[in-house]
Amino acid sequence: MTAAVLLAAGESRRFAESCPAAFPWKSKLLVPLPDGGPVWRRSFDLLARSPEVRHIVVVTDDEAIRAEAEAAGATVVPGGETRALSSLNGIEAADGAHTVVVHDAARPFATASLLQRVLDATAEAVAVVPVIAASDTIKRCSADEVKETLDRSSLYHAQTPQAANRDALLAAMRAHPEATDEASALEREGESVRAVEGEMTNRKITTFHDLEGLLRVENRTGLGYDVHRLVPGRPLVLGGIVVPFDRGLEGHSDADVVLHAATDALLGAAALGDIGSHFPNTDPAWKDANSSRFLRHAADLVRAEGFQVANLDVTLLAEAPKVGPFVAAMRDSMASILEVESSRISVKATTHEGLGALGRGEGIAAFAIATLERWLPR
Ligand code: MG
Repeated sequence: MTAAVLLAAGESRRFAESCPAAFPWKSKLLVPLPDGGPVWRRSFDLLARSPEVRHIVVVTDDEAIRAEAEAAGATVVPGGETRALSSLNGIEAADGAHTVVVHDAARPFATASLLQRVLDATAEAVAVVPVIAASDTIKRCSADEVKETLDRSSLYHAQTPQAANRDALLAAMRAHPEATDEASALEREGESVRAVEGEMTNRKITTFHDLEGLLRVENRTGLGYDVHRLVPGRPLVLGGIVVPFDRGLEGHSDADVVLHAATDALLGAAALGDIGSHFPNTDPAWKDANSSRFLRHAADLVRAEGFQVANLDVTLLAEAPKVGPFVAAMRDSMASILEVESSRISVKATTHEGLGALGRGEGIAAFAIATLERWLPR
């Protein structure tokens, strides 16, 4: 019987360090690939579809992976301190198997024919490793000095899936917790390891660069507009800031036209309705409400769809007062609500040149335009 061990316990530290700030997945194994599934799942499915593999052990500390792997019928065990110790946990859990095939979940592009080639070779070998001939000239160096140029003709890169007789592999991995792959532990035990042709496309995802070409950024733009009448006896609130004036805007909430337009721009960009559908002005809960709650809620809704706010640009139409001195505070206030840098938020103001109701100073209006971005599989 052949069992498979999928190693999905890596820390993704180098990946997380190499990601752009707005990239939502800090674990490389959870990034969705163009066929929709996350990286680890594509590696899992390779093993699950093999007619020879009867049992899969997933080594992971990730709760999402654990739940999905168990639902798919796999045994799940926790990771160890090192790759070798994680592998050992998995091999130990694959009891009853004659042959164990070990695969890195971070190699989602391995093909079924590679897996079959490795499994076929186990008929005549204790252990099998897929390899690719080194194409670069390889040098042995100290920190800043070349010590030697190695003979490239005998150098190969080792890949996974690697397969071996379980008893031999278990003994070798217990004896060599420093091994960086299964084959090297077996080599150190004096076992003969068969090399088969690997695949150039079977790359291990290490940094963001390894996935970049498989992802695209989707940009979405939304427009918001709002207008409220100026009346005596109300504070004037614009962009979350109280602006000194002899009148304020009339409305059910605090009537902050800037935050209302911004809220609609975000909701519009994600096609999530409008401010009225989320916060009806007939609901007493929103009576005199601080409108920052509306914008914060819209930001939560768009984030739940995977979006980040790339920028927000607001134009205020106000005959009076002069809002220039308050623009910086408005930008900071909206940046704080949206949890982005102030450099992504713009506020501009213009008068209405005396034209119409706005020109007579009877009210204040605002336009907002927001751009959202999210990463999707290409
Ligand atoms: Mg409004």
